[in-house]
Amino acid sequence: MHRRIIVPGVLASATLLLAIPASAASPSPGAPGIGDPYYPAYGNGGYDVSHYDLRLRYRPATDELEGTATLLARTTQDLSRFNLDFLLDVSEVRVDGAKASFTASGEHELEITPKRALPEGADVTVVVRYRGVPSSKEAYGFTGWHRTPDGGVAAGEPEAAWWWFPSNDHPLDKATYDVSVQVPDGTQAVSNGTLRSTDSRAGWTRWNWRSDKPQATYLATLAIGRFDITTGTTESGVPVLNAYSEDLGADAGAARASVERTGEVADWLTEYFGPYPYDALGGYVPNTDTGYALETQTRPFYSPRQFANGSNVSVVVHELAHQWYGNLVSVAGWKDIWINEGFARYAQWLWSEHEGEGTAQELADHVYASRPADDPFWTVRPGDPGPENQFHGAVYDRGALALQALRNEVGDEAFFTVLKGWPRKYAHGNATVADFRRYAEEVSGEPLAALFDTWLYQASKPEGPAARAVSGAAKAPAGSAEAPVPPKSWKEIAATNGVHDDGHRH
Ligand SMILES: [Zn+2]
Repeated sequence: MHRRIIVPGVLASATLLLAIPASAASPSPGAPGIGDPYYPAYGNGGYDVSHYDLRLRYRPATDELEGTATLLARTTQDLSRFNLDFLLDVSEVRVDGAKASFTASGEHELEITPKRALPEGADVTVVVRYRGVPSSKEAYGFTGWHRTPDGGVAAGEPEAAWWWFPSNDHPLDKATYDVSVQVPDGTQAVSNGTLRSTDSRAGWTRWNWRSDKPQATYLATLAIGRFDITTGTTESGVPVLNAYSEDLGADAGAARASVERTGEVADWLTEYFGPYPYDALGGYVPNTDTGYALETQTRPFYSPRQFANGSNVSVVVHELAHQWYGNLVSVAGWKDIWINEGFARYAQWLWSEHEGEGTAQELADHVYASRPADDPFWTVRPGDPGPENQFHGAVYDRGALALQALRNEVGDEAFFTVLKGWPRKYAHGNATVADFRRYAEEVSGEPLAALFDTWLYQASKPEGPAARAVSGAAKAPAGSAEAPVPPKSWKEIAATNGVHDDGHRH
């Protein structure tokens, strides 16, 4: 994901977190946020969702979405009421079969009061009936639903679910998904995971998708439009399904020449990150005018603009690297974004090395040398960048630089053992930057607090001895005015950043 988002006023709701239940014994409202300091209203407290069943119908001509969401959840406290995050118009809510009262509040909260309070540790089924025009809904002044000439797409980070299904919208609450979408014959509906079946009747076709491994809400995606679908299997046996809008125009060839290499890239990544964690793979390119790409689980979203200058396999490497770093192991809080983006960018550097277009060391040296000490780039702390800088280029480039520094400090053997071991250690869970440091220390047997502090938390350009940790040859031209000639892959990698300024900012 490479887009910057600013959520004004979000800090104002921080005080809501102080609404702590007075007593565990008396049922109280679940918190309206899960407790993430960057986004205090995102997610909710008091329950954990295990499965989303979404049965939807969509009309491309009018952008009308209607359907029923059935959530299987377990309460984590005695609840008098609880929230979901959602923006469309709700007509009915049932909790364990009984009608519940509900009201919209805040920017994107749906407050639900069941007939009877729910005890802690109870399995609960919540059914929400709804309809609406996603493109007409905004929160904090923006929309995460991208209307296209032939339909619409839900893909955004850290939020996209509000426009198409009610959820506990935070990576801490992962769940499995069945997404079933009815669209007019001739239109396709694409989502995560495996296409189980399609069936047509009376002019409508239903597409049944299943994502059967834990998946964060922002990694759930829906794309409706007129797509050409290709299928295949990776050398290691994973089924691949890609989808391309029929209207990509001049970008169509470059898009296919990139995304059709998904299987090859995923197999190559297993050498570094271990076995591919899911049973489905692919990518899709809708005819949207947004500029970014997003690692939606098993099936990344690519904007056509990623391929405007020709093929770009590097962006495919980036989004597929996230399947391990970001999707299999997700952030515990959004401040931990480096454990996603630093590694996805570093994977691009490894691919560059693989392609003979510049080594990771050369790319690291280029980042270091091309950014003078007074560049604001160095004021962004990748280990805790703040919500306004969550997708700043420094989280990517300085983030990858930090990994090169780690590699030079602990040596290739320990470094690559860490890279491969981490996804397994926290598989299907969440972790923090500090968890990664501890794991790297455990594997390498070296204390790494100073190195992490220098590269991830210091708000200035590392100098002297620290710089030598990046440049194995101690040749970092710290004071040089001229940026060195970039490695061949630089432009292609930088092109995946173009999305920082894609006009999609909110
Ligand atoms: Zn990314």
